Order: sequence, then C-alpha cells, then structure tokens
Amino acid sequence: MTYFRAVDPFPLESERYTKLHEFYTRLGQGRLVTTRCAGCGRVAWPPRGFCPECRSDRFEWADLPGEGTVAAFTVQETGLPAGFDGPRVFAVVDVAGHRVFSVLREVAPEKVAIGQRVRLTPMRVDDDPEGKPRWLPAFSPV
Ligand SMILES: [Zn+2]
Repeated sequence: MTYFRAVDPFPLESERYTKLHEFYTRLGQGRLVTTRCAGCGRVAWPPRGFCPECRSDRFEWADLPGEGTVAAFTVQETGLPAGFDGPRVFAVVDVAGHRVFSVLREVAPEKVAIGQRVRLTPMRVDDDPEGKPRWLPAFSPV
C-alpha cells in the first residue's frame, strides 16, 4: 500500500531530508546517540546540525547510556497517531542529564513511576517512503 506523505507521521526521518539521519540508523542498532559540536564540544539533546553556542555546523556523534530514569510521564488513551495502539505511555526520560521524550513500552500505565529505571528499547515504526526501516526512541522497565 502506498501512503501519502500527509499521513506519514515521520516524514522527515529519512536520509533525503535530514543530515541527522545517522541518529536513526544507530537507534536501529540499539544505540542512543546525540551530537557533540566539533567547534566547542557541547553535547546537545536533541541532536543538532547547528550549534547555537558557537554557530558551528560541524559535529560528531556521541554515545549516550542505554539506561535512564523516568522524569515525567503521561498516558494517552485516545487520539493516538495511526499505527499506535493505546493506551500509550509517553515519558520524559533523563539520560545522563538529557531529557529524552520517548515512548514507554512493556509496562502497564498504572505501574509507571517517577524515578523508575528504564532501558533503551527502540521502537520500529512504519518504513520511510523508500522502504527503509525507521525507529523512535523508546524505553522499557529495567
Ligand atoms: Zn559549538
């Protein structure tokens, strides 16, 4: 089946549209990475192709830990994007001081707690329009 771009929830997550695509490639390998500015060394989250501190557009990839702590969460029961089953737990996960917005998997909403330890379990979503796999950051209880 061919989907129109207007109903693709992740239209820019492909090699053609973002130089940060490597983030998703590594995510698919089970690694959470972000950018380190090659100019000033600042590690940013989310990954950035341009540094607001020193205005450099050169960067390298830096690995982040594969575990974090739930800093905040919410449960969405209705109005979920196509392809998402409900209820869905969305969380802000603290990973080495970075606030990573993600989905929590493999947990009942009533079992989620602030301070809970979680590990990276990337979630595969619909392939991009060229048929390549795409991933989103997701975490599961440790
Ligand atoms: Zn910089």
